[in-house]
Amino acid sequence: MQIADGTVVSINYTLTDDGNNVIDSSVGGEPLAYIQGANNIIPGLEKALAGKVSGDRLDVSVLPQEAYGLRDESLSQVIPRDRFESAEDIEVGMQFQTPVADGFSVVTVTAIDEDGITVDANHPLAGMTLHFAVEVIAVRPATAEELDHGHVHGAGGHHH
Ligand code: ZN
Repeated sequence: MQIADGTVVSINYTLTDDGNNVIDSSVGGEPLAYIQGANNIIPGLEKALAGKVSGDRLDVSVLPQEAYGLRDESLSQVIPRDRFESAEDIEVGMQFQTPVADGFSVVTVTAIDEDGITVDANHPLAGMTLHFAVEVIAVRPATAEELDHGHVHGAGGHHH
């Protein structure tokens, strides 16, 4: 069966950046299961997988606009040290949840200096071109319940 909107797709994938560094991979773990057309994965990868069948392998490069978006420098800001309870324990790379208007946003500490601590609310993969090596493992129709919930149930998906 071909990958189309409303199918549950299982893939193995390895994600690398422009420097060929591995960012993420399902190899050695469970395949990723998602519903095509349900915004479960980035648009550029979904687009490349449409029409593929079980057993297909493909290499896809996805521009930031079709992945996690471009970086927004206004989302990076310097917070005075005294706004942190224990500034001396903070290290570059740490992530914090901060309250925003519609829930929580994750910020990453990107720099620490005398003026303060720089936190960045951009997605860690924003601004990056992503390179995926993908193998399609299985394709099946989504159940009515899966389509209703917008996510896959069972292997590689939600258990509830
Ligand atoms: Zn569900």
